[in-house]
Amino acid sequence: MTGQSKISFDNTEYAFAYKTDAELKQANFLFSIMGKPWLVNMGLKITPAFIKWGIPFTKTIIRKTIFKQFVGGETLEETARVADKLEQYKVQVILDYGVEGKEGEANFDHARDEFKRVIDYAATQANIPFMSIKVTGFARFSLLEKLDAVMHALPGTLMKRYLQAVESLNEEEKEEWHRVRLRTQQLCEIADKKNVGILIDAEETWIQDPVDALTILMMDVFNKKKAVIYNTLQLYRHDRLQFLKDSYDAAEERNFILGAKLVRGAYMEKERNRAAEMNYPSPIQPDKESCDNDYNAAVEYCVEHLDKISLIVASHNEYSNLYTTQLLDKKGLPHNHPHVHFSQLYGMSDNITFNLAKAGCSVSKYLPFGPIKDVIPYLMRRAQENSSVSGQTGRELGLIKKELQRRKTT
Ligand SMILES: Cc1cc2nc3c(=O)[nH]c(=O)nc-3n(C[C@H](O)[C@H](O)[C@H](O)COP(=O)(O)OP(=O)(O)OC[C@H]3O[C@@H](n4cnc5c(N)ncnc54)[C@H](O)[C@@H]3O)c2cc1C
Repeated sequence: MTGQSKISFDNTEYAFAYKTDAELKQANFLFSIMGKPWLVNMGLKITPAFIKWGIPFTKTIIRKTIFKQFVGGETLEETARVADKLEQYKVQVILDYGVEGKEGEANFDHARDEFKRVIDYAATQANIPFMSIKVTGFARFSLLEKLDAVMHALPGTLMKRYLQAVESLNEEEKEEWHRVRLRTQQLCEIADKKNVGILIDAEETWIQDPVDALTILMMDVFNKKKAVIYNTLQLYRHDRLQFLKDSYDAAEERNFILGAKLVRGAYMEKERNRAAEMNYPSPIQPDKESCDNDYNAAVEYCVEHLDKISLIVASHNEYSNLYTTQLLDKKGLPHNHPHVHFSQLYGMSDNITFNLAKAGCSVSKYLPFGPIKDVIPYLMRRAQENSSVSGQTGRELGLIKKELQRRKTT
């Protein structure tokens, strides 16, 4: 496919072909509920406590509603059902093992082993080209925070600051950090051997510098011939467009392919609140427009440098997705260029995913899985993101209603 075809995200028949009438009605119900902020706020407050106290039926209700909409299953094996269904529509899968906030060396080793299991499994499935990891899954948050704080206080390049910061740790911390590096390297090695891409998620700004440095070190080893490792860049940060350019310069200098997954960013309120509380300038863009401008400029930059950058457009923004295909068209590049991939979260923006797939793009759903109690933070973020009728929920609900109506009349 050489591109040039006109892509539209309005076709709800393609978007929801994988859902039965009953499933579509369930989605309609869920998004209607999520459009009531007071209900979502109450749910956000009581659900974690209800889970902790083992209140009867909490898990059953979650499993049948929000979990079913946004999560692939409680086990790796359960995700197969969703992955198989998506494959029928040429939609790929990025597996995301939902481990968040569990600390301690035993938990970190366990997470590493689970990530390994995901890579092994993905390697056996033709439509699972990537898996995602969070460094906080196998590194102590406060150690990352300490490294980040030291790095911030130092002048010079990211790598120089990183090496100096590691040197400043005490012996015990150095050994601990060594274990984090080893876990990361073990995962990258297996992924490289088994031909599965690893996407390293971006988290809070106050731990991100060491994560970026670690990711670039891994790219320098494993991305020499193809992109195995991808960093995530949050364009709601005002410094990330420059960081993309610096990362590209590093890729040129060290001769590796830069894996760049572009997102806007999921922790805006938290970032702004912390900056205000601790009295430092917010790392977040002043407004949505600036965020959108940088996101689209980052896409442009990547498409201009596809020889050395492998791009993942990870977004539910219709314009950003469409714009990427238009840039490819303009350069006469195919929509399924090996260095361009699109991805949306499972349960959201099916109109984008399935219409991109129909147009021949390489596109996937980000599919988290894990025990209910472990994916609660992820579900909370989805509920929050979807709690505004004027925002994502309005979009989702409008599309679902349109498709329900279409099915009724055909
Ligand atoms: C496949 C995939 C992987 C992801 N991985 C990560 C990850 O690793 N780390 C991560 O943080 N997030 C991740 N996200 C979530 C992502 O960062 C966004 O929260 C989400 O996708 C919404 O942004 P959008 O591009 O879809 O579009 P839109 O709906 O157009 O934009 C909403 C986003 O714009 C930004 N925004 C909104 N208002 C303002 C404002 N006033 N000022 C500045 N910015 C504003 C916020 O980031 C908000 O989430 C991922 C998303 C996808 C689809």
